[in-house]
Amino acid sequence: MEFNFKSNSPYSYMRYGNYKAKYKGKEQYLVPNIDGLLNIRDLYDMFSKMDSILVDLLNMGRICSEENDERTKFACAYFFVKQYGLLGFMVDTPINTDFMLMNEVTLKEDNFINNNCIMKTKDYFKLFFPFATADEMSYTVTNGKVVIKSTFYLQEMLQQASLNNQLIYSNFYCEKVDWIIEYAKKMYSIFKMIFDKQNNDVQEFNIENTVNKYYFSGVPYTINMYGQTPEISWQPNSLKQAIDLSFGFMICSEKNPLKICKHCGKVFYAKNPKAEYCSPQCRNQANVYKSREKNK
Ligand SMILES: [Zn+2]
Repeated sequence: MEFNFKSNSPYSYMRYGNYKAKYKGKEQYLVPNIDGLLNIRDLYDMFSKMDSILVDLLNMGRICSEENDERTKFACAYFFVKQYGLLGFMVDTPINTDFMLMNEVTLKEDNFINNNCIMKTKDYFKLFFPFATADEMSYTVTNGKVVIKSTFYLQEMLQQASLNNQLIYSNFYCEKVDWIIEYAKKMYSIFKMIFDKQNNDVQEFNIENTVNKYYFSGVPYTINMYGQTPEISWQPNSLKQAIDLSFGFMICSEKNPLKICKHCGKVFYAKNPKAEYCSPQCRNQANVYKSREKNK
């Protein structure tokens, strides 16, 4: 199976020019920072950057599995979000995609947001807009239609966008650093187990529970019929869905390019399928150690 998403389905995703930390109690959030920027927000093609998105996400999971202090977690999440935008947990986590129309929202099991899988939709909304006043960001449901209300010009500019995008592209939309980190750690632990087992380097005994039972996001698609050959065009509703999709395709491909460096442990994207080290430096160092061992 090929994993060239680029040619089949370019898919734009919005990121802000910068982000900052905001606190609610002890909880740390990442929120768009629109102060003093010329390019407040822009769109980029997620699938064309998927190699580096996956490598950065998995390395964030790796670093935070080893060092779990608040500073490291924030630094990792900020580095990631500044490059690629927030992940879009708000629209990825519910099972009922029309949750904004309902009084209650049902969340996927093993989600990164909330232990209780059923929540009042009003409370769920507040989880992602904890710092916005009702003037800045609120919604009404009339005649089976959700209308986002805001007096802020950046929000008004999104009015023509889909409801999902009006939510996760909002400059008031936030995600907790912990959600991002827990997701990255989960993806890294799955990746590492698969990689170790493939390389006969198994230490873990509960691969089945961690890998087989974890559900990734389902991604809707359309079929493009521009020429004579039908093409799948994936329609992820968020960065997270695009990551979940690409991760599965890459890792289950015979040509899986995602690897762990034998010397430093970093996840890297191997252009050469035989590569074992992330960089010439790591390869050289590993060779130095090897020859020292021999000479002993
Ligand atoms: Zn390395």
